[in-house]
Amino acid sequence: MNLDLLAIAAHPDDVELSCGGTLLKMAQRGYKTGILDLTAGEMGTRGTPEIRAKEAESAAKLLAVKWRGTLGVPDSDVQPSRQHKLRLAAMIRQLRPKTVILPHWEARHPDHYHASTLGYEGCFLAGLQRLPIEGEAYRPFKILYSISYADARPTFVVDITAQYEQRRRAILAFRSQFRPKNSEKKSKVHLSIDRLEAEMNHLARHYGQMIGVVYGEPFLQKELMKVADVVKMEVRSI
Ligand SMILES: [Zn+2]
Repeated sequence: MNLDLLAIAAHPDDVELSCGGTLLKMAQRGYKTGILDLTAGEMGTRGTPEIRAKEAESAAKLLAVKWRGTLGVPDSDVQPSRQHKLRLAAMIRQLRPKTVILPHWEARHPDHYHASTLGYEGCFLAGLQRLPIEGEAYRPFKILYSISYADARPTFVVDITAQYEQRRRAILAFRSQFRPKNSEKKSKVHLSIDRLEAEMNHLARHYGQMIGVVYGEPFLQKELMKVADVVKMEVRSI
């Protein structure tokens, strides 16, 4: 399929919350983007997998992604097991993404930090010729870590000021998670819609401010950035 950019995360809505603005911005630039949810989010206390699948489809449309799929790993059991890694490697061979966005490797939820390791190792294995799976060996060129919710310093921030409103709509498409029916309101497991909105806004503003724009999404790459022209570097120092 030759995607330009693929975001991989544990649960439907993780990608929207962490790097939805960047995905939309890249789609607007003409890149072919995609989202791979490792699980269907079936352990969530709200909504059914069917409802979440519909919500995920609406969100994907809002973010203009060309492809969205679920790997079929059981929710709450994301881990870099051989079986999951092979399945992911086969998917990487099909989608052939140039760049992959993964969650940061430090997180509260085990599915989130395991998604990071599983994602990296699946991408690596996909490039091994003799791996016992179908498809032509392939390895993505670049791996980026989305760190919106991690306690880590980003190596760069993407300006999503123009995409912020649409990203907000994509996140709110997951109604069952954020807009519970009155009968379900008593549960404290999930963020209330007001708190979620305030938190989203605060985070995006915080990272935006770091690069002198209104809204931003933070990323980390393990490699150093190569710079060709130090005179044209962006973001003011003083
Ligand atoms: Zn999640």
